[in-house]
This record gives sequence, C-alpha cells and structure tokens, in this order.
Amino acid sequence: MRNARNQHQVRSRAKAVDTEHKHCKVIGCPHPPRAATRNGLDTRFCRSHADFYSRHGSPYKGSYSAAQLQPYRKVVRKWLKENRENVWVRNAVTRVRGLYDRAGPHEEAFRLAGMSAQERGRKAWARLRNAGVSPLKVVEAWLVVDQAIMHDPQPVETSEFHRVQAAKLVHRLASGSHKRWEREIRRMVGVANVPIVEVTELHKYPQSRGKVLRVIGADIDEACGLVTEAARRDLQD
Ligand SMILES: [Zn+2]
Repeated sequence: MRNARNQHQVRSRAKAVDTEHKHCKVIGCPHPPRAATRNGLDTRFCRSHADFYSRHGSPYKGSYSAAQLQPYRKVVRKWLKENRENVWVRNAVTRVRGLYDRAGPHEEAFRLAGMSAQERGRKAWARLRNAGVSPLKVVEAWLVVDQAIMHDPQPVETSEFHRVQAAKLVHRLASGSHKRWEREIRRMVGVANVPIVEVTELHKYPQSRGKVLRVIGADIDEACGLVTEAARRDLQD
C-alpha cells in the first residue's frame, strides 16, 4: 500500500519534470526549449524567447521605447542639473570616469569579433571615452531606466532587466565604426564612356545583445547604484 503510493509519487514527479522541459518557460509558448548550446544561452526557453531575453534582459518584457523614456529623461536631467554637487552624483561620475580610464585603448568595432564579453565590455567604455561622452550621461541612463521601472504598472523588477536596459541606452551614446571608400570607375552612359565615382560604405555597430550587455550593465550598476536611492527619494512625486 505504502509502496504503491510512493511509486505513484515518484511517477508524478517524473512527469512534472518532463513537462517542464518539454516547453519553453514562457507561459503559453508552445515551442520546445532550445537544445544545449555552446554559447551558454539559456536552455529554458525556445529559440525566439531566448533571443528576446538576450536582447532585452527579460524573456517577457521588451525594451522601453525612446518615447516611453522621454518623460523620465526630462525629470532626471533636471534633477541631475540641480544635484550636480550631490555626494552620490559626484561619486557616480567619478566611478564612470574610472571605467573610462581603465578601459584601455579604443578598438574599431570591426575588430571586436572573437573577443570575450568582458573584453568587449571594456572596449565599450573606451569607445564612450573616445567619443567624449560625459559620464553624467551614463548616470542619467541608469536613473531614467530606474524611473521607468518604478512607474511601470507591470514592471520587471530584476536587476538584470534594469542593467540591460541601461546598458542599451549607454551603448547607443557612442556610435559604431564607419568606413568609406571612393574609387573612380568608367561606365557606359548612353553612348559615352564616363568616369563615375563609386562609393562603398561599411557601417559596423557593436552588437547590442547577449552577455556584453550584462557586463556593461553590471559596470553601470556598480558605478551608479548608490545614486539610485537619492534620486528616488527626491523624484517620488
Ligand atoms: Zn518560447
């Protein structure tokens, strides 16, 4: 009797584990989870939800749009302007400058392939430094995302989401690498053989997804985390 019950329990537990792995973890998604991959991506989700998670920092919620962030940007900018001498703001600015200083030489986006996420994260800081982006802009991005999450009626409150969203904004502050070649060629136009200039352009932006966003996000959190409470207190209403 006892034995039979135990067997039943074991069987139902095995069944529960089985169904958990049959479907992607996003509720209602009918797709199977992706097989184990070499790039270390999450295997709890199907391919498209894993990709979504990689880009946005949450498998459920997409990135905030520029329009959604705009009102918070205004409020945060004003607050930062009025609080430039605030001890936590100054501390965050100093820490972001530290990230710039420790980032090493700048590398063209063309050369980032094959580097680890940690290295690419460092290069992102070098890119911002060389583009002359004010450290205050990084603090601003962090606080803007914090405000957006705070006022979101359906927020994702994980630190990962906050970090990835901030990293995406920061990532956009420095542009990618651009190359342009011109060469003169001759081409028949009607009956005339005329010289024309052929232009080739190559634009490469470092990828804004995956592990590197988590690395940059962790750097931002470490630099700006302490200013969050001060801003929240003042911007509560
Ligand atoms: Zn899915």
